[in-house]
Amino acid sequence: MDDNLRDIIQTAKEKLAVESIELIVRDLEIEDWDEDKLQGCCPFHNEKTSSFKWNSKNSSFHCFGCNKSYDIINHYISFQGLTSRNAIESLLNETGFEYSAPQKKQEKDINRIYKYPKRVANENDSMVKDYWKSRGISDETLKFFDVTSNQYGNTLFNYYDEYDVLTFIKARYSKETAKNEKIIGITPKEDKKNNISGAGDKPVLYGMNKVNPMGTLNISEGEGDSLSLHEAGITNAVSVPFGSNTFSWIEYNYEWLSQFSRIVVWMDNDEAGVKARREIISRLGHHKCRFIDIPKEIILEDGNKVNVKDVNDVLVKIGKEKILELSKYEKELPIEGIMSLEDAEDFNPETWDGLRTGIKQIDDNILYKFFFGTVATITGTPGSGKSTIVNQWFINEAINQGYGVTIFSGEMSPSILKTWIEVGMAGREHVNFKPNSKFIRIIDKTAKEKIIDWYRGKIHVLKDDDNNLEVILKRAEQTVMVNGDKILILDNLATIGLGENDVNTFSKQAEMMNKLKAFAIKYNILIVLVVHPRKPSNGNSAEGVGGYEMGGSASIFNLCHYNVSVRRYTDADKKGEKSGRGDEYKRGKEPTPYDTCIQFYKNRLMGTLGKVDMYFDMSYRFYTNPEELWKRYNWDKDNKTTIPNHDPNNHGIDEDIFEDED
Ligand SMILES: [Zn+2]
Repeated sequence: MDDNLRDIIQTAKEKLAVESIELIVRDLEIEDWDEDKLQGCCPFHNEKTSSFKWNSKNSSFHCFGCNKSYDIINHYISFQGLTSRNAIESLLNETGFEYSAPQKKQEKDINRIYKYPKRVANENDSMVKDYWKSRGISDETLKFFDVTSNQYGNTLFNYYDEYDVLTFIKARYSKETAKNEKIIGITPKEDKKNNISGAGDKPVLYGMNKVNPMGTLNISEGEGDSLSLHEAGITNAVSVPFGSNTFSWIEYNYEWLSQFSRIVVWMDNDEAGVKARREIISRLGHHKCRFIDIPKEIILEDGNKVNVKDVNDVLVKIGKEKILELSKYEKELPIEGIMSLEDAEDFNPETWDGLRTGIKQIDDNILYKFFFGTVATITGTPGSGKSTIVNQWFINEAINQGYGVTIFSGEMSPSILKTWIEVGMAGREHVNFKPNSKFIRIIDKTAKEKIIDWYRGKIHVLKDDDNNLEVILKRAEQTVMVNGDKILILDNLATIGLGENDVNTFSKQAEMMNKLKAFAIKYNILIVLVVHPRKPSNGNSAEGVGGYEMGGSASIFNLCHYNVSVRRYTDADKKGEKSGRGDEYKRGKEPTPYDTCIQFYKNRLMGTLGKVDMYFDMSYRFYTNPEELWKRYNWDKDNKTTIPNHDPNNHGIDEDIFEDED
């Protein structure tokens, strides 16, 4: 909904204020109504003094006891049973605005025709009603959400989109019918595993067509939770379609979600729910999102304790008053400013998400993972292989681990980047040199097709027409919030415009680092900043270009969470240096069979530093063992052929390969 429509709705609400008050007071039988003060007893919670008051500023009731807001649109939806679009249409038409709600646009479906299901509602629905009664849900609430029953007594959740189009049906099997394996009959198609009718790629939110866009949106984890919120009198309750691990609904409904100026998140209190809440708030915007922290244990008035896991549990085990009470304690996800230490989330490396490199020695012994909410700097002399590391760890591994990537490259065209990334994704088995060429790599045709399908839509390249940091972050905000990308690569420092001049470069760089850190935390992503070294490495030791040798000001090293340096072993390094006494080598100058050394100079979160020697392969891969060399990314997971034996002395290393990099 655009701002224009929002203004019109507000004007219409003001026009209809007198009638609205009368209608609501009468329909909801508001007690102790005071016509002068425009307040009475709240119909949504038990009270003896009047807290339910008309606010002429936004033409809406508000209860100071239970925090509930209620306007004429809510009334049309909740009391008269209209859908959101019909309620708005009614309001505008009644107040003399000519308006008809937009029709659903034809959606583009490349692969197939979406099969919209037919509504099923068996008259004999007592099994469904009884079950939900046992979960604290009234028949009225079931009707409001159009919960129906099929002939087997299964609960059917009818998912409507914002245009009131029934998009899919989710069935919940009752205990009785679960035993019966021959369940059929949800039209038009039944997915045995998810019990979902209609294809699952239109992830609408449950209850979204009954939401008042002028109010606060309440997002919960399951259908039972949105039913419970509604039961407790909390309107505008929706739930996510496929549990706490899937976020495709954010991208799919982004425009619709954007219209709300306030969103409250009510996810379950288990680990997955807590993680999901962080992701949702990061993507929908910290400034407008709050969350309700459902406690795992609630102490009752009589001193007894109950364990709860979600909103429905609170309703069943305690009652709707408790839900209303919880709704008053909206929390913010802390991002900046001041907070109490006890409110900080425990740092648990196992449950905090992040990206692993796929190199066992690094993941197990040094890094563990690049946690989200951090900034990593990668440095190394030209030709050292740092671009390959960036591609391998932060793009290919990211896609393999299910994370989307956004790239700003001030140096490399998308075509070149694409070629390199695809060669890396193809891996050793699917890449060959063109006959008589030692530069041109060819990927098998079928492999290439599969690879493109695999990463389609998951890698976004920011245009390099404007290299200003603010512009880059503004554009990245789109891919991070809408698409949910978790990795942002900035390649490299020298190509990012900071508005610096001769005197303020260092302070501008410190400012940039602080902005990047805040951005990483706010959206819970990993930012990778590529930095060239300050001066050519002296090249005679295995020490890389780390820490303060990195280009830019010292603040870049000081402020980043991770610093990784890539260094290529020279021929001299490989041969080693004799001490002059027989066959002995100088200490630290022993010959090495490796091609590259990766050194961690900074690892703020786990504290472990160290270095790992690696081989380099013609397929643009660094590796330490045969499994990593012959790594098959998920696009190739059905490949059952035996992985060839590995000869570490014949790993395709070519002196020129490094040269055409960077
Ligand atoms: Zn109230």
